[in-house]
Amino acid sequence: MFDFPQFPFWSLTIILISIVFLWLIFRNKQSHKQQQSSLSSEYFKGLNYLLNDEQGKALDVFVKLVDSNWATIDTHFTLGKIYRKNGEMDKAIKIHQGLIGRPSLPEQYRSKILLELGYDYLGAGWFDRAEGPFKEVLIQDAKSTEARHNLILIYQQEKDWFKAIEIAVDLFTDEPDVTGPMIAHYYCELAEVAKVKGDISQLENYANKALHYDVSCVRASIILADQIKASGDNKKAIEIYQSIESQDAESIILVIDSLSECHENLSSLDKLYDYLVALQDRHKNLFLQIYIASILEKSRGSQAAIVYLTEEIKRQPTLFGVQKLISYKQKEEGADKAFRDLTVAISILQQGQVEYRCQKCGFSSNTHYWLCPSCNHWDRVKPGIIEPEHAHII
Ligand SMILES: [Zn+2]
Repeated sequence: MFDFPQFPFWSLTIILISIVFLWLIFRNKQSHKQQQSSLSSEYFKGLNYLLNDEQGKALDVFVKLVDSNWATIDTHFTLGKIYRKNGEMDKAIKIHQGLIGRPSLPEQYRSKILLELGYDYLGAGWFDRAEGPFKEVLIQDAKSTEARHNLILIYQQEKDWFKAIEIAVDLFTDEPDVTGPMIAHYYCELAEVAKVKGDISQLENYANKALHYDVSCVRASIILADQIKASGDNKKAIEIYQSIESQDAESIILVIDSLSECHENLSSLDKLYDYLVALQDRHKNLFLQIYIASILEKSRGSQAAIVYLTEEIKRQPTLFGVQKLISYKQKEEGADKAFRDLTVAISILQQGQVEYRCQKCGFSSNTHYWLCPSCNHWDRVKPGIIEPEHAHII
């Protein structure tokens, strides 16, 4: 088999650095002809070291170069970024630490170098070390949103919700749409910790704070309603579960089981049936037929569920609806081979269908996540919608 020659990484590095450097020379050539001449000879000496894979010596030359002319700092940033992109974090860190340690460093470059150093540590997975540079940027430049967003990312990764809130709250006034939902989830995390500890008043306090920062925080409503349901106040719990419709109608599917339990406790499943039918009318994109059928089965028996589903899947055919109908028919009319075969066939077809999908990155799963494990965005994993066109087998 023929092996294609590998394009050497250092060739790419050197080409890129040369472009940056030549641009710098061009920019300054009118006023600094003589100085550039000596700079460029030093510069090519550095490149030579790189070519010979003597990276330590090359860096020494570049650091001396930047000492005599800080306008060449872009070369270091480019080199650092290339190292980082190639996963050579130790080398990127060495460059940026070398720069930050120079006594001649002009203040104007300090924040930029610290940010780069922070990204190096993040790239290496050293979240605890990355915190320092980003915090230092805030000392230099209290308004740096870049440093704040990275600190939030670090605290979120470390599950240090209090620190994440502290930083995010500072951004809330300027970016309420971005930071509001994030802060709300941090408070929800704290509320869930309080729940484990059995501290109900803290749970309520944190869930209400979540709603203060994001009035549409479904997770906070669920935490509050679950707590109220556990305390035995089914009516109040139903009220809160149903309020989710105004926050995000699609998410009501997450609480249908809880709603059902509350209504069962109150012997009012018929009310839940009426509510779900009306909900389906208000939101045509929701596919509630299997949930409505379950409620009918519980309140009026399998035959009522069969009548409802038979009509419903003519109007809005879905695989889940058909499968549910077959399972009721099996129960009512006995399982014969045809039913069993059909059920198996539908189960196979359904395997490609997922219950939850991230609207940001397309990640799909049969488990619900508040924070998408793929793209790291909050609230984007939603109950999957079963499109009627996926159900042409009827
Ligand atoms: Zn995602």
